[in-house]
Amino acid sequence: MLNFTVGPVMSSKEVCSIGAEQVPYFRTEEFSSVMLENEKYMLEYTKASANSRAIFMTCSSTGSMEAVVMNCFTKNDKVLVINGGSFGKRFVDLCIIHEIPHVSLNLEHGKKLTKERLYEYDNQGFTGLLVNVDETSTAVLYDVMMIGEFCKKNNLFFVCDCVSSFLADPFNMSECGADVMITGSQKVLACPPGISIIVLAPKGIERIESSEAKTMYFDLKNALKNQERGQTPFTPAVGILLQIHERLKEIENKGGADAEVARVAAQAKDFREKIKDMPFELVSESPANGVTSVHPTTANAYEIFLKLKDEYGIWICPNGGDMKDTIFRVGHIGALTHEDNTTLVNAFKDLQARGIL
Ligand SMILES: *Cc1c(COP(=O)(O)O)cnc(C)c1O
Repeated sequence: MLNFTVGPVMSSKEVCSIGAEQVPYFRTEEFSSVMLENEKYMLEYTKASANSRAIFMTCSSTGSMEAVVMNCFTKNDKVLVINGGSFGKRFVDLCIIHEIPHVSLNLEHGKKLTKERLYEYDNQGFTGLLVNVDETSTAVLYDVMMIGEFCKKNNLFFVCDCVSSFLADPFNMSECGADVMITGSQKVLACPPGISIIVLAPKGIERIESSEAKTMYFDLKNALKNQERGQTPFTPAVGILLQIHERLKEIENKGGADAEVARVAAQAKDFREKIKDMPFELVSESPANGVTSVHPTTANAYEIFLKLKDEYGIWICPNGGDMKDTIFRVGHIGALTHEDNTTLVNAFKDLQARGIL
């Protein structure tokens, strides 16, 4: 199998071999020290400011998106949601479910957020802003420094969903002024799905400490308190946390977060160059490194996904909803090489030769 989706993605051999081992009991000093090290690496790789914290949630990243909405906002807030695709819409839906007053700033699929559009919402009594830094459904990367400046000016509580952009695109939590960042195990961390990670700047911690959210599993105050000793309130996905530990060390050994971002960027650039002559239009006005969003001009996007999966053993990433027939995505994250790109492009060429593309 060759997997170019945007998660789960291909894991390194070392990460896979941990997955084949017995899962240890976790209320131990040994596991606590793994968890404290995981936190240290996460704070380092996100370039979080002093006194920031990281917590590890056993749920998919949508669970952490929901936990953050529940713990950081109330009915007294007014939140601006950048909504450029499926993941932006997910934040809107979460605000609706949890009755958080909000306004959805809708962007056409593939379009970036311009300063002009954002500043239409300047000085309008907002208290928070939610953004998916890479709107993975269309592969649009938003300008997080520009948004951060807007948040500073308007004193907004700033939440960054970096689920697919963490370690793929440059992110400096303290410089952009994010109060919360969210990511997950199955994207650039290239581990199995099941863990998502929330990094909190001091202002984020403050909001959580004063939260009165009615929830047991998503009580982030409790998660923060337990992580002080490298533990979680409930049984976490222990095996995946050990795999994350291995992966975070791998990244360190290969030069750290910036080196990983450069590796993903080179993987994306190589792919985009190799498809220059294909009947493809690139959808994103401001492409993220982690994924290329492609509109095939001569064939149905979903059909191409099915053909590659069933006849070539190659997985690209289909889109859902109203983008299903027109857009597919190719990921550049996980244990992929430039040779793997060539294999995929050769399969596209074969489809062309067969008159399918
Ligand atoms: C993948 C992704 C998510 C959600 O991840 P799940 O683990 O499926 O819940 C959220 N936001 C972005 C930007 C993503 O790419």
